[in-house]
Amino acid sequence: MSDSTILAARNLTKEFRGFFAVSDVDLSVIRGSIHALIGPNGAGKTTCFNLLTKFLSPTRGTITYNGKDITSYSPADIARLGLVRSFQISAVFPNMTAMENVRIALQRARGDSFDFWRSDKTLRQYDHRAEELLHEVGLEQFAETPAEELSYGRKRALEIATTLALDPEMLLLDEPMAGMTQEDIERISSLIRRVAKDRTVLMVEHNLSVVSDLSDRITVLARGQVLAEGTYDEVSKDERVVEAYIGS
Ligand code: ADP
Repeated sequence: MSDSTILAARNLTKEFRGFFAVSDVDLSVIRGSIHALIGPNGAGKTTCFNLLTKFLSPTRGTITYNGKDITSYSPADIARLGLVRSFQISAVFPNMTAMENVRIALQRARGDSFDFWRSDKTLRQYDHRAEELLHEVGLEQFAETPAEELSYGRKRALEIATTLALDPEMLLLDEPMAGMTQEDIERISSLIRRVAKDRTVLMVEHNLSVVSDLSDRITVLARGQVLAEGTYDEVSKDERVVEAYIGS
């Protein structure tokens, strides 16, 4: 593992009652890169993602983050180190405005009590950072809009803002483009590019044109194993990758 590796998995394996959903996967994510995990349905992407954030425990294998063995860490410990995941299903409070959602995320991230609502001074501190985050995800005009009135793509942008409230060094995105219109895809793509300027991103994504557009490196999984790794051009020319997609 080189110094430029931020997250690495070695021999990562998950067995579900005799079935190997993920089998001896090696993965290295380079600091500052956008890395995509792709593969046909059932390839083991979600399982891998859940193993890396310890929402599942591996049957065997190790995970290191910044050179530290985090295999036995809890999801909360991992998030505290700066490795933060966002969820495929929107996790925002629908009745609250975009601003309120980000304030709550900041309050949670900082472990502050809800008393902050009563103090104008503390509230203003949150507002400043909340405004920055809304600006970062392109939602500044929607600060006072209830989350439920935002388009699906903007809801996902808000969800990313609440994830950024945790001040992640590395972000794991589970299918950020799922269910999106082309306009939303373009908006979220440029958001991911912006977010990745000073962070590392690992994403599971089905949309191959998004993957080719955004990713520096790609790991292709099939039947729980790594089939290929490299740039989009490299992996898309690999016959085994073409076969895995056509055969799926
Ligand atoms: P992907 O995200 O690439 O579509 P998954 O990681 O969801 O793939 O699943 C990989 C394989 O593991 C699939 O065959 C799936 O049915 C199986 N699998 C996933 N989770 C479980 C589980 N909790 N119990 C048994 N099998 C599972």
